[in-house]
Amino acid sequence: MYDIVADCSDNVPTRYLVNDACVLSGKPLVSASALRMEGQLTVYNYHGGPCYRCLYPVPPPPQTVTNCSDGGVLGVVPGIMGCLQALEVLKIASGQGSSCGQQLLLFDAQDGRFRSIRLRPKLPSCAVCGESPSVTRLVDYEAFCGSAATDKCRKLNLLSKDQRITVQDYKSIIDRAGPHVLLDVRPLVEVEICSLPFSLNIPLSSLEEKKSKDIQLLQEKISQVKQQMAGDQQAPVYVICKLGNDSQKAVQLLEKMSGEEVDSVTVKDISGGLMAWAKTIDPAFPQY
Ligand SMILES: [Zn+2]
Repeated sequence: MYDIVADCSDNVPTRYLVNDACVLSGKPLVSASALRMEGQLTVYNYHGGPCYRCLYPVPPPPQTVTNCSDGGVLGVVPGIMGCLQALEVLKIASGQGSSCGQQLLLFDAQDGRFRSIRLRPKLPSCAVCGESPSVTRLVDYEAFCGSAATDKCRKLNLLSKDQRITVQDYKSIIDRAGPHVLLDVRPLVEVEICSLPFSLNIPLSSLEEKKSKDIQLLQEKISQVKQQMAGDQQAPVYVICKLGNDSQKAVQLLEKMSGEEVDSVTVKDISGGLMAWAKTIDPAFPQY
């Protein structure tokens, strides 16, 4: 028997599962999360406050979720959030009560700042804690969320086969010195750990925002490559990231931008990303 549940999981299906289990068994849920340089802490299903489903009735589309394995996290941040989480557990266990009931504590490690925001109250129409709940026992949470209950090897499949090449294909392009643009869409912090030579780094977020400085850089590279190529072929752009998920999103974005914001290009994703490169092509390449 448990009286208090602490959720330290890192994926959406598990969050819904643990939330529903807590609502159905009437236990408070001390929930913490961390991504990159940010942390969040709240207590769900506590003293009439909202549950996780009250705030997120519908799971996010799987391809929009960034987990720690893709997004990275600075190890100290989950450490800080874990300590705060333990503090709330002890406050509840000792009867002093938690101050995070209808409150979300946000930690910004970059600015070294905490903020607290008041959460929406309990949702009367909530599927699990509402007035007439439709979820009365645990369901299949992977099916509900459309993603696996793990942060490991979550592989998106957004592109067709001919929009992707393997790391071996890319190696042979380098070996025969074929003119191309290698676009690395990881955040700068990860690029600083390791990168392939000659890659142009434009983080996926900058592409999504169409940051003009970055689009200009990309266009310059495309022009350079076109000059090295004979005739009026389109310049090939190969997109890479850590595991090959963000790069697929970037390929989709670039295909829309091709012939609009930048010259017409052929864009392909390097399947499996830099970690596939490290595994099969260059064992000396850092794995992180
Ligand atoms: Zn609820």
